[in-house]
Amino acid sequence: MYDLIIRGARLSDERLVDIAVQNGRIAAIGSVEGRAHDERDLAGRYYLSAGWIDSHVHCYPKSPIYHDEADAIGVAHGVTTVVDAGSTGADHIDDFYQLTRAAQTQVYALINIARTGIVTQNELADMTQIDGAAVQQAVTRLPDFIVGLKARISSSVVGDNGVQPLVKAKAIQQQSGGLPLMVHIGNNPPNLEQIADLLTSGDIITHCFNGKPNRILTPQGELKAAVKQAMARGVKLDVGHGSASFSFDVARVAIAQGILPDTISSDIYCRNRLAGPVHNLAHVMSKFFTVGMTLPQVIDCVTVNAAAALRLTGKGALKVGYDADLTIFTVKQETRPFIDSEGEQIAGEKHLVPLAAVVAGQWITTEEGVAHDLGI
Ligand code: ZN
Ligand code: ZN
Repeated sequence: MYDLIIRGARLSDERLVDIAVQNGRIAAIGSVEGRAHDERDLAGRYYLSAGWIDSHVHCYPKSPIYHDEADAIGVAHGVTTVVDAGSTGADHIDDFYQLTRAAQTQVYALINIARTGIVTQNELADMTQIDGAAVQQAVTRLPDFIVGLKARISSSVVGDNGVQPLVKAKAIQQQSGGLPLMVHIGNNPPNLEQIADLLTSGDIITHCFNGKPNRILTPQGELKAAVKQAMARGVKLDVGHGSASFSFDVARVAIAQGILPDTISSDIYCRNRLAGPVHNLAHVMSKFFTVGMTLPQVIDCVTVNAAAALRLTGKGALKVGYDADLTIFTVKQETRPFIDSEGEQIAGEKHLVPLAAVVAGQWITTEEGVAHDLGI
């Protein structure tokens, strides 16, 4: 007797499978025999993928600027795992960890290299805030929570320090066993070229399709050489949509040249969730249909690619023995407006609607699923 069987699930490649869950893990996939305490038949009407992972969010509820609740950005909209990108540094990360234990959504954190995290907009303007020993101690205390480092390297954050905070971040990364480093890019100085030159395999550039002058494309629309070289070294691109960091124009031109994001993430927090232009991860994912990506490509960005980028073992794929984190969703054909961070509005024809999340085997109907009346 399994705990849960979901039958007739449609995968993003249109195959139909059954999935059985036992003790919080995927126990069987394919044509599943036997019974379960909880059985749900999707009858091919709904899609299912590995649980969606949002690799750049802000959900430390006590943050003065970018606060939110993990479940409001997570399971309420089909996201089973969120990775907070540097809201907290060594000073508050233990408090953050404790608060997240009550959430149904699985929460991980990238620790800000500044002790304070993001309490003001310029946490790296004072080099004395960067405390490598404190970061290392936090990683040692919370090895299952802290999955990487975060450094925001744009003019308003670093002040007069240029790339010096990034040089320090790379040193801390080495001392911390080579955890992934996510680097926020935005206005210069420093120039993107200087940033990209310092990055190595596994590092992540977030806000990769921002529309600011210091973007990944040249004025002629070509990928900047330094970014191209960084990608060839294994540097990854993360979307990190946010309030100010996603341009349809940049995404369209980049994707047309085959420059796809590795991960699609929201950079969501309370304000851009409620007022837009982010709303939720599904909304951000749906925007990528309008710039030339397919359903399997979009789903890969929030499952297998996200798990690989953040090294979340046992997640991101439908495999026996992996965590039973699943997202059930539908694709709705309907014309609705999409707005990017530059204010460009386009008509989206295709929308992802998350209907339910399964976290460690437990079924949670989303807000959209409640409204949709699933009939399962
Ligand atoms: Zn940022
Ligand atoms: Zn952010």
